[in-house]
Parts: sequence; structure tokens; C-alpha cells
Amino acid sequence: MQSVCGRTQALDLHATQHPPTMTAWISVLVQTPAHARMEPVLTYRHTQPLHNGTLVRVPLGKRETLGVVWQDASVDSSGELDGDQVRDVAGVLDTVTPLGEAWQQLMRFTAQYYQRSLGEVALAALPPQLRDLSPVQMHRRKRKSERDASKPTAMAALAAGPQGEAPDLTAEQATALAEISANEGPFLLFGATGSGKTEVYLQSVYQLLAQDPQAQALVMVPEINLTPQLEARFRERFTPFLGPQAVVSLHSGMTNPQRLAAWLAAHQGHARIVLGTRMAVFASMPRLRLIVVDEEHDPSYKSSEGARYSARDLAVYRGRLQGAKVVLGSATPSLESWHQSRPRDEGGRYQRLLMPGRIGAQALELPLVRRVDMKHQARGAVFSVPLLDAIRACVARGEQSMVFLNRRGYAPVLHCADCGWKSECGHCSAYRVFHKLDRTLRCHHCGFTERVPRACPGCGNLDIAPMGKGTEQIEEQLEALLADVRRPDSVSAEFPEGQAVRVARIDADTTRLKGSLQAQLAAVHAGDVDVLVGTQMIAKGHDFRRITLVAAVNPDGALFSSDFRAPERLFSLLMQAAGRAGRDAALGKGSEVWIQTFEPAHPLYAALKQYDYPAFADSQLRERAQAGMPPYSHQALVRAEARSQEVAQAFLNAARSSALQDMAAWEGWAQVLEQVTLYSAVPMAIARVANVERAQMLVESPSRQALQRFLSGWHSVLHASRTLPACKGLLRWAIDVDPLAI
Ligand code: ADP
Ligand code: ZN
Ligand code: ZN
Repeated sequence: MQSVCGRTQALDLHATQHPPTMTAWISVLVQTPAHARMEPVLTYRHTQPLHNGTLVRVPLGKRETLGVVWQDASVDSSGELDGDQVRDVAGVLDTVTPLGEAWQQLMRFTAQYYQRSLGEVALAALPPQLRDLSPVQMHRRKRKSERDASKPTAMAALAAGPQGEAPDLTAEQATALAEISANEGPFLLFGATGSGKTEVYLQSVYQLLAQDPQAQALVMVPEINLTPQLEARFRERFTPFLGPQAVVSLHSGMTNPQRLAAWLAAHQGHARIVLGTRMAVFASMPRLRLIVVDEEHDPSYKSSEGARYSARDLAVYRGRLQGAKVVLGSATPSLESWHQSRPRDEGGRYQRLLMPGRIGAQALELPLVRRVDMKHQARGAVFSVPLLDAIRACVARGEQSMVFLNRRGYAPVLHCADCGWKSECGHCSAYRVFHKLDRTLRCHHCGFTERVPRACPGCGNLDIAPMGKGTEQIEEQLEALLADVRRPDSVSAEFPEGQAVRVARIDADTTRLKGSLQAQLAAVHAGDVDVLVGTQMIAKGHDFRRITLVAAVNPDGALFSSDFRAPERLFSLLMQAAGRAGRDAALGKGSEVWIQTFEPAHPLYAALKQYDYPAFADSQLRERAQAGMPPYSHQALVRAEARSQEVAQAFLNAARSSALQDMAAWEGWAQVLEQVTLYSAVPMAIARVANVERAQMLVESPSRQALQRFLSGWHSVLHASRTLPACKGLLRWAIDVDPLAI
């Protein structure tokens, strides 16, 4: 393997060349600086052999660092060691069971597939606090965690006892559950919002844990905000028979001690169920038997920094590796997963399970989708007349509306009509957004913030005006437009005039403080809000009971985006938003979804009107097949950052030329290159961020294996290109395999 991890050294512990004193040579995986072409597996000395996977503290340069004993049978062990150069292992975290072979293999695969160094991947997958604790501190932690875990739990009751509080399954749920139980998977559970997918997860987990008193299940959700809801449901169901320690969460919103405790519980097997965001896919779970990926289409499963892994894809790999069933669930699956779940005789590898029906209250008709043709509305109007009327009527009935627009702030640009000045960011190729509340211009890319100038910086004109609309402005306009509407519940003797409409906004600006999102959502649930304005944040997952009207103010952008995945994301967002409406039995009937659009006849909206995901997916897949795009091809992006656009592009183009010329001469590589297309370097959509110029190059192949093979070889070429004179000033580069945004 000629990958980023390079050749590693390890010595046979029983080799005869080292002195007969009790000295063992230990191969240890450490985190070497990225791209530092240093072997990530280094050799240390210890007084006795250590088990593969043992956590150790070792000196590295002037520091001491965490490492994992990595006796890899496949690595080259011919290296000559100079005993004087080898340093001693500083400490052994022997209170922690060594990491298992499956976990090590997951790390190897991740590093290789996503083209990162093994040390980086493996050590980043461990809880941060593990890096700082000495063996003694670790010992204390572990004793505490074991004391907690050994508190009386009715473990035996699970096998014997009935499941508490579980509803009788619908026929669709029962079939899905039976299929999951009887087959190997992976499964794609394609179920409408409110079809009871979570109940299927709960009962699948129950079945597996009941069969095997040590089995573990991993359940992933895309966002931290969704974990409390899910955790509550799992705790309620499982605490009665597994005890309070059996369910743990793993996500980046936890403190380091919390994360370490949860990680240890999973690693030692006390935690039977781990709930978490994408990072949880790396949790050490030795008896993993089931992985659930809820909302599997969600882009948050793809990491956007460091190793850009897809937790969904790794879940499928990990399932195979550890013999665990994998259930991917969604109402609007990713086109990749949809394609994978085509019939087996057409090459499908996932089993598709269908749950089209909604349960109980939600079994009422789905909300009616109404398209408003904005070509027939006043130019520049944010709200069409019929939508505004509908919102007013909704408020007057005492029901809630949700209005979303994917742009926060007041206006995306400030503009001077006299000289043409616009609120550009001095550090990025982007405009700074006008935030009216604190009268600032803020760059959403680099964070650069300034007070709004009193007059145009270009010509001194006092009259600079906002262009375009953001959520702040929508909120302000709605308050004005609805000022005369009165809510019915206050039309009482005491308040004869009724109460004014309450408009609230939820977006990244209003939820910066910890806990503020929760508080704002609670206000919506409590009915303290009549109209909720927000970005896509409000469309996801929250179970609002009294919302009967959902409106997308200006969703057309995605139809014409240069990103071929934009329509897929829009469709899924609108379907999810529609799922927010009419969840309450008494109100469900008459719920509506409003789309303001200049393209009312667009097939995407037509499919949405019918709630026909399969029709939408099939038409998208046909387009993708014709254009040779994923899932019919496989892609990787190389991104380069430099002080100048020329250098960033020169680096990429140099690496491309070397690939086409030099690599073609490598033995056996001609066929690989034949199957791979390298495009020219181009500036990224936002070429400059924080004074750094960014360029990218797309690499594409119809064969995943060929692409993988190519990337592993190309890695050294990219490294070498860095030193070319034309590439002076290159800051960094990285490969993104299976990129989500191009
Ligand atoms: P999904 O995850 O598919 O959106 P949920 O699992 O959250 O759907 O189910 C939607 C609602 O229906 C929840 O309130 C849930 O408690 C309820 N529910 C699920 N299955 C059943 C069932 N078999 N009988 C009654 N209620 C159910
Ligand atoms: Zn001006
Ligand atoms: Zn900026």
C-alpha cells in the first residue's frame, strides 16, 4: 500500500537481534503533523511486550503524546533499529482495554479511503481528554465509570421482560421490523415523515439487545439538536430494563469529561446503546450488532474538515466489518442510497423497505402544496398577496405558521445607487451581510464585522440601501404586515382588542448562545409564537404540533445552482418542511405548504406537490446517468489554498501534468489512468476567504476502485509538486473523496 501512511516500521517482538534483557520493541501509532511525511507508526522501547491496541503515552519530539500500540502484521518489519535512538514508552494506560482489531481496521480503512494519515484519523477518533490524562488519572476515571456501571441494573430483565410502553406496530412497521430481523441488510428504510421509523429503530434495537446480553447498538442522527429528543425516547424505552447507564450520547456539544465517560462506557461494553452525531461512527463498540443512520440523506454526515469522511458510508463499511446490521432511514433518501437500493437483479446492494403511510393524526391528508407564481406579483414583493392572506387567516384561527428563507441577516448586500459601491468584504470574494439589529456589516465567510458606515465609503452619499432579503427583514416585514391582525384567544372580555401577533425568528444569529435554541423551540411549542421565521434550521426534525402553514419564500435558487446536488437538497428540505405542518389531529386537516416561485411548472415542484419522492429521484437519476455524475461516477476534489490564485492553480495543474505524464510511465498504472479523468484547476465558487485564494480540481472515474487506486498513487505526486518553484506560496492542500459540494 502506498498511501499517506507510507511504509511503517514494526519489529518482531521475538526477533533475536535485540539484547536478551527484557526489552520489547513496541510499534506505536502517533499523530504526526499532517503532511509531515513522517512515519505515523514509530518504534519505542518498553520493559515488556504490549498488547496490540493498548493506549500508551510516548515522547514525540519535545512533547509527550498519546499513542496506540499498532503491531500491524501487514507492515514492513525489515527496518534496522539503532537501540540508542529508540525512546522509552512513557506510560501505559493499562486500565483501558486495548482497542480491538475491528476498530483498528476501521481506522485503516478511513485513512486509506479518505486519503489522510492513519495517525491523524485514529487519534482524532479518540475522545480529546484521553490525550491529556496520565495513567494514574485514567485509572481514577475508569474506577468511577465502573462504579457507576455496576449500580444495580436489571440486565436479566431484558431477555425475559416485555418491552415497556411500546405501541402496537402498524402492518408496515411490523413488516419492516420482520425484514430487518430476518435479513442481513444493509437496509434503506424509506418512510414518510411520521410513518414511525423511529419506532422501528427502537424495536430493532430491542430485538438485538434482547437476543444477546452483550450486544451494542449505534444510532446516529445528523444534528446535535436532534439528540435530546432521541435520547429521551431511547431512555424512556430502555432504562426500565437496562438501567440508566445503558444509553449514552456522543456528540461535540458535550464537555470533554462527558465525552470520555461515554466513550469509555461504549468501549468497555457497559453502554449498550450509543446515540450520536457523525463522530459516533468511530466509537469503539466491541459488540456492535446494529447501526441506525437516521435522516441518512443529511449532508451533516459528511465531515467538512480534517478527514472528510462520510459517517453514513463508514457505517455501511463498519457494519460489514463487525457483522452488524445497518439501517439507513429517510423520507427523502440520498440519491446514492436510493440507487444502491434498486432491485438486486439490477445491481442493488441495499434492501429497500417501504413505509409510505403516516401514523395516527398524521395519517390525515398530507398538507396541500400551493405554488404561487411570483411573475404575477408586484415586482420585488417578499410576500405574495395570497400567501399573506393565508398567514393572516392562520393567525386569526389561532394556529401557527412557519416561514423560511435560507439567508440570515437583514439583507445580503448594502448598495449605493449613486456610485455603485457594494458592501464587499475586504478579505473575501463575497459581500458582507447587513445585520440591522446591531447595525453591522458581517462577512459570513471570514467573520469580519464592522459598523454600518454612516455614508457611502465610495462617494459620501448618505442614502445607502439594502439589496435582497434575509430572515431579519422577513421578520420585520411580517411584524408590520400583520400588525392589525388579532389572535383569537385574547379576544376576550378583558382584552377586547385581542393580542398583537407574535413573530419570532430562529437562525444561526439568534441561537448563538448555548441553550438558546432549546428555549426558542420551547416557546414555539408552548404556543407563544404565531409566526416562526427562520433558515433551514427550523425545517429539520422538530415536532411542532400546531403549525398548519409552512411557506418557502424564495427557494428557486437551488433550481439553477451550479451544484448538481442542489435540487436534491431543496426537495428534501421542502419535504421535511412539509412534514412540519399538520402534525396535530385536530388541526391537521387543511394544512398547507406554500412555495413562492418564478418556475411554478418546474418538475421538482410538481413532484413535491404529489409528495412523490420516487418520481423525483428517478428523474434526477436519469439526468445524472446521462451526465455521468454520481452515483454513476465517483469523484474526488483536490483543494489548494495559496496567497494567490495563480499559485493555487499552478500547484493543481502541475500535479495533474505529472499524473498524466510521469504516472503513466509507472508500471501497471496506465490502465488506472485510463479510467480516471482529471479536470483543469478552477477557482472555488468563493475564490478568496480571509485573504486566502482557493482553487480546486475535480477527479472523476466510473470505477471507485480505479479512483481509489489513482488517489493513493497521486498522493506522493501532490507532495512532490509542492516543492516546485511555481508553487511557492502554497499554504495547504487536501483531498475530498466523494465531495458533497462542487
Ligand atoms: P418518523 O421517525 O418516521 O418521522 P416517528 O417514529 O417519530 O416517525 O413516529 C411518529 C409518531 O407516531 C410518534 O409520535 C410516535 O410515537 C407515533 N407512533 C409510531 N409508531 C406508532 C404506532 N405503531 N402506534 C401508534 N403511534 C405510533
Ligand atoms: Zn456611493
Ligand atoms: Zn470575509
